[in-house]
Amino acid sequence: MNRNEIFFALKNRPNISVLIVGGGINGIGTFRDLALNGVDVLLVEKSDFCSGASSASSHMAHGGIRYLENGEFRLVREAVQERNRLLQNAPHVVKPLPTTIPIFKRFSGLLNAPLKFFGILDKPSERGSLIIKLGLMIYDAYTGRQRTVPKHQFLSRKNSLAKWKQLNPDIVNTAVYYDGAILQPERLAIELILDAEAENPNARALNYVSMVGGSEDTIILRDELTDETYDVQPRLVINAAGPWIDFTNRKLGLSTRFIGGTKGSHIVVEHDELRKVIGDHEFFFENEDGRIVLIYPFFDRVLIGTSDIPIEHPEEARCTDEEIDYFLSLTRRIFPSLSLRRENIVFQFSGVRPLPHSGAKTVSQISRDHSIEVLSGDWTNLRFPVYSLVGGKWTTFRAFSEQVTDKALAHLGLSRQKNTRSLQIGGGRGYPGEPGEMQRQIESLSAWTGVSRERLKTLFDRYGTRAESIATYMNGGTDFILRSLPDFTLREIIFLVQHEKICHLDDFVLRRSMLGMLGRVTREMIEELAQALGNVLGWNAEQKEAEVARTLSILAERHGVRL
Ligand SMILES: Cc1cc2nc3c(=O)[nH]c(=O)nc-3n(C[C@H](O)[C@H](O)[C@H](O)COP(=O)(O)OP(=O)(O)OC[C@H]3O[C@@H](n4cnc5c(N)ncnc54)[C@H](O)[C@@H]3O)c2cc1C
Repeated sequence: MNRNEIFFALKNRPNISVLIVGGGINGIGTFRDLALNGVDVLLVEKSDFCSGASSASSHMAHGGIRYLENGEFRLVREAVQERNRLLQNAPHVVKPLPTTIPIFKRFSGLLNAPLKFFGILDKPSERGSLIIKLGLMIYDAYTGRQRTVPKHQFLSRKNSLAKWKQLNPDIVNTAVYYDGAILQPERLAIELILDAEAENPNARALNYVSMVGGSEDTIILRDELTDETYDVQPRLVINAAGPWIDFTNRKLGLSTRFIGGTKGSHIVVEHDELRKVIGDHEFFFENEDGRIVLIYPFFDRVLIGTSDIPIEHPEEARCTDEEIDYFLSLTRRIFPSLSLRRENIVFQFSGVRPLPHSGAKTVSQISRDHSIEVLSGDWTNLRFPVYSLVGGKWTTFRAFSEQVTDKALAHLGLSRQKNTRSLQIGGGRGYPGEPGEMQRQIESLSAWTGVSRERLKTLFDRYGTRAESIATYMNGGTDFILRSLPDFTLREIIFLVQHEKICHLDDFVLRRSMLGMLGRVTREMIEELAQALGNVLGWNAEQKEAEVARTLSILAERHGVRL
């Protein structure tokens, strides 16, 4: 169903089993699992899918080695297993990520865990070789028989400096271990939605629709593109609004304080030397004050982050000048001879982690685990329960969604028919396991569709095996390369607009493609894309202009990109 058909169906039949509020990864994961189990479910997202916390992550599928220090063994074990599943179920987007920790001390941090446990430590400190070794041994043990990535290694100072010539010579060791890189989280999210809708005609997802209020048996939704409102009558509401969970509960007359969010920012830099020096390794370490830092190979760019600062209003999260100075200075600490400057920054972003409200003394001590908070009963003035999904990481979204779905199914009196543990996602289905197989798929697809091998390779890198549908569509009419965007063709873009719920120009620039995040946009490109998208979406000249202005304003105001 397209957007209008979904609204029409809702007007005719406003009764639904489950309403999910929030189209970040936790709402989307739950949507997919419920859809798979035959539930009629509606997901609404006030802006674009995956544009809140889920678009601001450090792009790691990781177990969270440092959470061991807070005693969160259950979470780390679950996250390592989920990381392994992501590598297997979404191999087109999630790739093994060798991660190097430069270590500057041997014994530091040994007392952190016990002191934190007794509530004595209220200041983070740097961890030394010994404590890191212990953490990595536990980490490897959790990978167990699911050996999707190699075990960790410790390198002496001499070998480390021989391997990483620009590394700060003050190190005492390096450790190398493996996690996963989620290279295009926004694309993975949209593919999960499309999979769910393909599985179940009663699973419907709408972006640019807000939940604005509700009482008794009714919830009011507003279409943000037309301002029209719609009533729905759900049997269960799942509040998956991430950092906005308490704001969303308030719209239903529920006063909660579940979230104590912290802001985290990142910069994307264009610096060929730094990119070459790190190779395919992420550098992941703690600064002198114990805060986590990452320098991450991000296509041909480098992603650097992150901060962890308490914040009240998620809308206000922006990457500040102080954070930028901090990122530049800590990169200098690791690679002192490389001169990284503000001019190298091509994009910046900031988001709020939906962490549980907590009395922890430091932000690093706040639990990164997830939980389901249930509000129900007469005091709520609602005839359906509301489940709030508190916390949760990108890495663990599937497990969290499974727990929420089990609870929802029990509430609806249904039993689980299918699970998502080894369910492949979108373009990960049938994805070639080795380069030879990929080449064979490309050769046969090229012979069949007439699309060049070179372009098919690009399509495979972007969309996994969905490349096949896109190439077939490209071959179905006159196609040409965009003037300002030589590695995209018009029909590739039309396919995405028609199939991937694009409503605004920035949906394409920032979330369906990597153009924005990798700092590749130009003004000419924005204007040409407005024409291409507008012709499919029926925008008149005024609307095209408004979309250009909107995108330029978002790029400048949120991402520091002034065109
Ligand atoms: C800086 C940072 C770095 C991180 N790094 C990692 C990492 O490397 N690896 C990892 O696994 N995790 C990481 N995380 C954690 C992870 O990204 C988040 O925990 C996860 O994305 C939360 O998803 P969510 O669906 O709960 O929230 P969100 O993605 O914020 O989704 C909630 C959605 O609800 C919508 N909404 C709000 N109110 C309404 C309403 N009234 N009506 C309709 N819609 C509404 C919002 O627009 C939003 O899109 C990081 C997070 C941050 C911020």
